[in-house]
Amino acid sequence: MGGFFPIFDKIRFFEGRAAMTQKSFSSMHGIALPKTRESYPLNIGGVDTLVAHCSDPRFQEAFQLFILEELELKPGSYDPIVIPGASQLLTFADSFPKFASGFTRSMEFLVKAHHLKRTVIIMHEDCLWYSEFVPKFVTRHMNPRDRQISDLLKTKKLIEEKFPRQMQIEMFYASIQPPDRVTFSEIKEGK
Ligand SMILES: [Zn+2]
Repeated sequence: MGGFFPIFDKIRFFEGRAAMTQKSFSSMHGIALPKTRESYPLNIGGVDTLVAHCSDPRFQEAFQLFILEELELKPGSYDPIVIPGASQLLTFADSFPKFASGFTRSMEFLVKAHHLKRTVIIMHEDCLWYSEFVPKFVTRHMNPRDRQISDLLKTKKLIEEKFPRQMQIEMFYASIQPPDRVTFSEIKEGK
């Protein structure tokens, strides 16, 4: 095989070098990795769902509880993509394709590697990504909530185009209910 595909020989060579370097580096320097006091579960049950939501720390507990209690997805039973603005980058696909590719490539990889069949996207009220990062010319014609809902619907269309056969898509909007609670509304087309 190597003769016909010299690139594989090259990859093996570099992998071999890397393994050797690791071994010799740790033994040369007497490095032993300290273990933590406890051990933790390794989830090997497989997944078929991707959940994308914003990284805003104020919402993480609400997101985790909602995902567990209402979507009935335990930690380790889905692929999380947690980035500022959730899937907002996807909506830049037309005007800023490089921005969009950051999200698209991760999603393509996970869909292919884990044969995903379901995508859940959660956006939230008072998202700093929208107020601080998304260019004003994109957001000025709509109030922030309408902009986010419009982006969710656009995202659904883009994902359906990219993965035409297999993907079920669910979208939610998390609202702050004063003073310190979060509620979730499902976003559907035509509503
Ligand atoms: Zn946010």
